[in-house]
Amino acid sequence: VTRPGQAAPEAVATPRTRTQTAGRIEISNLSKSFGLHKALNDVSLTIEPGTVTVILGPSGSGKSTLLRTINHLERVDEGFIQIDGDYVGYRRKGDKLYELKEKAILKQRIHCGYVFQNFNLFPHMTVLDNIIEAPIVHGLLNRKQAIERAYELLDTVGLREKANAWPRHLSGGQQQRIAIARALALNPKVMLFDEPTSALDPELVGEVLDVIKKLAESGVTLVVVTHEIGFARQVADRVVFMVDGAVVETGSASQVLDNPRHQRTRRFLEKVL
Ligand code: ADP
Ligand code: MG
Repeated sequence: VTRPGQAAPEAVATPRTRTQTAGRIEISNLSKSFGLHKALNDVSLTIEPGTVTVILGPSGSGKSTLLRTINHLERVDEGFIQIDGDYVGYRRKGDKLYELKEKAILKQRIHCGYVFQNFNLFPHMTVLDNIIEAPIVHGLLNRKQAIERAYELLDTVGLREKANAWPRHLSGGQQQRIAIARALALNPKVMLFDEPTSALDPELVGEVLDVIKKLAESGVTLVVVTHEIGFARQVADRVVFMVDGAVVETGSASQVLDNPRHQRTRRFLEKVL
């Protein structure tokens, strides 16, 4: 069954990691208003485990709000999100949803890594301490294990030699790569990226996108808000285009980017390409 705002079955790209079973995101009829302004308007979207979804759309179309609802940084007015069948921020009792307590919400958030536009590293901590903090605080790893894991992750992002550096001594691209390593330290099933390269000088964009591309091969479910069309073309299993809080078009990268069905998509692409 094809619902409005959803791609026809043949439009959905084959997930690269067929064996992946964790990290399935199901977004059902989500609406969210700020005052009178509807930031999300009946958004439904299923994101298969291990796939890469790129979300495109003009400024103010609700992309960040959607990402924030996926780990309950934003409460919704209607609808719900499930990750691997668990309601995000809620538990179900009969046919009612009850909001989880703060502690349970924090525990649930472990499954979602979040990378922001502005890196948000802890400035008073070294790179290594930034990465080991969360797994130790959450009791997932002891200090020795966390340090071992941190060095693995530093290798993943190509910055082992920066373990003892301070964030302020790194370039923006390096800081963002550390922020990605830090998010990965909790072994999330899902990684959410909100315009991860838009605060970077153009020459630093590539090194961050390369790290995200590498992650795409790892089986983590990736949801990436970006204006980097070339990246979408290379990496996305699926592109979602949003306008005014709604999903207006979704399909494979070539479908949405080369043969957009909606005029809003065409106009947007003319501007960013
Ligand atoms: P995008 O990320 O696509 O640029 P956002 O999700 O940030 O869009 O915002 C969608 C709309 O919701 C915008 O009109 C924005 O001004 C509004 N909005 C987002 N967050 C808030 C907030 N905390 N309070 C009030 N309005 C907000
Ligand atoms: Mg945004």
